[in-house]
Amino acid sequence: MEVVQVLHMNKGEGETSYAKNSVVQKKIISIETSIIKEAVQKCLEKNFPDSMGIADLGCSTGPNSLMVISDVIDTIYATSNQKEIPLPEIRVSLNDLPGNDFNSIFISLPEFYNQLKKEKNIGQEGCFISGVAGSFYGRLFPKKSLHFVHSSSSLHWLSQVPRVLDSNILKPLNKGKIYISKSSPRSVLDAYLSQFKRDFTLFLKSRSEEMVVDGHMVLSFIGRVSADPASGESCMQWELLAQALMSMALEGIIEEEKIDSFNAPSYAPSAQEVRSVVEEEGSFTINCLEAIEIEWDGGQQAVKTIRAVAESMLEVHFGKEIMDELFKRYAELVGDYISKTRAKFFYLVISLTKKG
Ligand code: SAH
Repeated sequence: MEVVQVLHMNKGEGETSYAKNSVVQKKIISIETSIIKEAVQKCLEKNFPDSMGIADLGCSTGPNSLMVISDVIDTIYATSNQKEIPLPEIRVSLNDLPGNDFNSIFISLPEFYNQLKKEKNIGQEGCFISGVAGSFYGRLFPKKSLHFVHSSSSLHWLSQVPRVLDSNILKPLNKGKIYISKSSPRSVLDAYLSQFKRDFTLFLKSRSEEMVVDGHMVLSFIGRVSADPASGESCMQWELLAQALMSMALEGIIEEEKIDSFNAPSYAPSAQEVRSVVEEEGSFTINCLEAIEIEWDGGQQAVKTIRAVAESMLEVHFGKEIMDELFKRYAELVGDYISKTRAKFFYLVISLTKKG
């Protein structure tokens, strides 16, 4: 399954939309803010560009899309005031996959421009915001056009389901599971890790061509602290979803084979795995690499978040008509799990500089 065709966050502004259910991701962005500010300041330290290229990769839709951009512009504005240097022309590219609800972002732009004008006297001739549709696992921007790149809550999505998992339909490797699980054979773990390595290397390589020397990049995505890829902290959300699906298979609502042939195109790498890909690829220096612990909140917000994020691809595979029932069962399992365990997961935040 190629992600390009099936993945998009739930559109619009409804109950199950990403716009209404991205509080966790918003929290990550607030935690990242100081790292983002520092990185943007560093971009402006050596030489203040006349025109500054900024990209947010995997921008999605809803309130978070422009939040980071707003922080970045604040920092550029403050730094130029402090240094008494004219504000550079700001070029902002918002990127996501073609299925993303770009229109919702575009509709909110006039309001965003109004604020910029009111608060900082930056007019449309000073800030150019555009949408770029395509996969960040490949080139998206002209050579050396970007000074600052940001991506939050996106890089744990792989470009595709690891091929060995997709091609063994007759002899499924990961029976009854939809992600790495304690019962998964080694080959499943290896397949996920090698897909992550391939994708993340391509990501870094593409950005290294698009960024200027000394440009900065801040990335955050779901990861893990444990060395074990089957540890609960990185698998539980999928494990419980698999349980919900299996309970439906037991009652004949869906076919078990459907579960055997579905694997999530997502991977939660360890800090060490991330570090080794960056070092092997070679274009970037690591300034910091931190793990942030996030608690699954006691209410049902976790379920809503996961629905807003994963429904599009589950729907394609299992059918739209079973989604309400699936998420009802999932909510029960999650509620039960959270009541017994202090459930948590981890985000990795990494700040990088493009080498000369
Ligand atoms: N940055 C936002 C959105 C995170 S949701 C926030 O922090 O709230 C993750 C987004 O990554 C989704 O919109 C998804 O479509 C996008 N995404 C996943 N894989 C991608 C790829 N290969 N290229 C571009 N965008 C991708």
